[in-house]
Amino acid sequence: MTPSLDRSYAEQLDREDSLAAFREAFHFPRGAHGGRSVYLCGHSLGLQPKDVAHIVGEELDAWATLAVDAHFSSKRPWVAYHEQLTPGLARLAGALPSEVVAMNSLSVNLHLMLASFYRPQGRRRKVLIEHRAFSSDRYAVRSHIQHRGLDPADTLIELAPRAGSYVFDCEEICEAIAREAEELALVLLPGVQYLSGQSFDMAAITTCARRHGCTIGFDLAHAIGNVPLHLHDWDVDFAVWCSYKYLNGGPGAIGGCFVHERHGRAFELPRLAGWWGHDKRSRFAMPDNFVPLTGAEGWQISNPPILAAAPLLASLALFERAGLEPLRAKSIRLTGYLESLLRAWLGDTLEILTPRNAEARGCQLSLRLNMPSERARRIHEQLHREGFVCDWREPDVIRVAPVPLYNSFVDVWQFANALRSLCST
Ligand SMILES: *Cc1c(COP(=O)(O)O)cnc(C)c1O
Repeated sequence: MTPSLDRSYAEQLDREDSLAAFREAFHFPRGAHGGRSVYLCGHSLGLQPKDVAHIVGEELDAWATLAVDAHFSSKRPWVAYHEQLTPGLARLAGALPSEVVAMNSLSVNLHLMLASFYRPQGRRRKVLIEHRAFSSDRYAVRSHIQHRGLDPADTLIELAPRAGSYVFDCEEICEAIAREAEELALVLLPGVQYLSGQSFDMAAITTCARRHGCTIGFDLAHAIGNVPLHLHDWDVDFAVWCSYKYLNGGPGAIGGCFVHERHGRAFELPRLAGWWGHDKRSRFAMPDNFVPLTGAEGWQISNPPILAAAPLLASLALFERAGLEPLRAKSIRLTGYLESLLRAWLGDTLEILTPRNAEARGCQLSLRLNMPSERARRIHEQLHREGFVCDWREPDVIRVAPVPLYNSFVDVWQFANALRSLCST
């Protein structure tokens, strides 16, 4: 069938999609006329896998019927519960199992990593982040700078994107690192930028940061489960993520953390300690001295939130079954299809802030309508009333993310068609 702008072509693409059945493994919120909404908001909160109720129910049962004994003698003993998440997370992160751990939430993990890996020394004190970084990351970094008695005003570098654009040039990032190298302690960047959807060249940036002796960390909130990651091979120092976006772990889900094997036995690094990061063999003997576990697990503090971890098991099983390569291949086609419909139907009415090159983005497109932002906001509200779930970011950005695990080509067609008709009236 030759590509066309007709709905029938989208239907054809769905029929040919080998991952189409995974859609049925998720609950969709209700849309406008009682049917399913067209949910394009997985960058904010992933949908609930249908298995979640069962898997959470098992832990509620374990609590009810075994109570404290469920720590050691239930179907999935709580004491090691987080370890079941390790293999799936390691595959998604491109890491060794010993390099990843599910724990806490994103911003908390970022604090733990900064406590260990932001080590201002002599002239090397500065931290480089991107302009318009997610608020929480910026707050966390600024607070660490202040914690060390330094002033963010001359310690925090917020690198600007290309003039008039939301997109960063990887070469400019590397040039900035080279320029600041003698004073730069840490580079902290997103894997995928939350506002623009740009996917950074993490391999090149890591090589460049490490060549200049800077520690390099990534915030993977919008990257994990979205774009391929090879944190181990890239030689990244640390990374953090949350699990409620593309990982479908549910609101407040347990977050994750990567620490490169190179640091797995770096016991001299200062860390904020707690009993769950202590040697498993003597954890319950509670000796006076803290003996950290090797690997990422040595950064744990508390026993894990079982009810906030169970849903992630259900979701990781779906990633496992679908396979990361087929998912990425579908993602590129799905987002490319969205882009081609929007360009064909909306032309100059619409600006796409996300890079065009598939390598430089995940599934999200960030859109700006060329019209007064009040009108654009009303269009977004109308989309929502008609059952299209995407989001609005001040001042005027609409973020739309077709997620390959549960979105269809018809979803994309319907969204582009609805936006076209709202913009033309
Ligand atoms: C979603 C997101 C967060 C959220 O932080 P929590 O600690 O999970 O509330 C932080 N940073 C970035 C870049 C994000 O996209």
